[in-house]
Amino acid sequence: MAYSTALITGASRGIGAATAAALTSSGIQLVGIHYGRDRTAAENTATRLRSLGATPVLIQADLADGEPAAAAIAKAWKQALAEHGYSGTDVFVSNAGINGAQSLAELDPETYARVQAVNLTAPLFLLHHLADSLNDGGRVVAVSTGYTTMAAPTHLAYTASKAGLEGALRAVTPELAQRGITVNCVAPGVIDTDLNADWINQDGAREGAGRMSAFGRIGTPEDVADVIAFLSSDRSRWITGQTIDTTGGSIL
Ligand code: NAD
Repeated sequence: MAYSTALITGASRGIGAATAAALTSSGIQLVGIHYGRDRTAAENTATRLRSLGATPVLIQADLADGEPAAAAIAKAWKQALAEHGYSGTDVFVSNAGINGAQSLAELDPETYARVQAVNLTAPLFLLHHLADSLNDGGRVVAVSTGYTTMAAPTHLAYTASKAGLEGALRAVTPELAQRGITVNCVAPGVIDTDLNADWINQDGAREGAGRMSAFGRIGTPEDVADVIAFLSSDRSRWITGQTIDTTGGSIL
């Protein structure tokens, strides 16, 4: 089965931008590049996709707004599909997310609410609003975290949001399987992106984080994007309702 259209949230940089390139290289033609604030970064992703032969569509929305942001993204994406002559969405990658590192003592309602809005509410409602546009045999992939299976005392709100997303997506898996649509998550370990910019370049931090992986290094956005591309392809048709570890063999 050939896939032609993909919507990726948070595709302006990091894992999302690498995923946009990987999906384009595997044949996707129309790519929805959702971004939050950084229009220049989104345009850089778009330029790269054009050079790979795809047609990018830029869609801005702040996921901290939750459901209304999800509705706006779905509306803009469906308009783009119609304008370019496509009948629906082949691949939806829910990638955008924020860290919001907080321990039990640090937990505050505002940060907690923001992390849930961006990482759980908006992605789930985006799937809700996109469901009627997903093509039979399509693919849904969400970016979770290795922290849903290993204790991360510093990331309570973050872990709760990602574990919630994994659970909610597993819950919709049987329904979407009736249409041949698979729903899976990837669970990265530490990846070299702006998400970790506040600590990764401190003395020894990169090396210390790298030692958690069996490979002795932190991951690249492409390490995760290639797994997402597989889960977004016909070759993964017999996998659904799963979270695929992409921690590079961390804490084995
Ligand atoms: P990143 O910070 O480079 O990218 C995050 C993306 O999400 C950006 O495109 C950003 O614009 C978007 N985003 C953030 N807040 C938003 C908002 N309020 N509205 C709209 N868009 C918003 O980081 P990344 O590492 O590429 O993160 C991608 C995903 O990977 C996230 O879901 C993150 O939780 C997950 N993840 C990352 C790591 C890591 O170590 N980098 C580890 C595990 C999971």
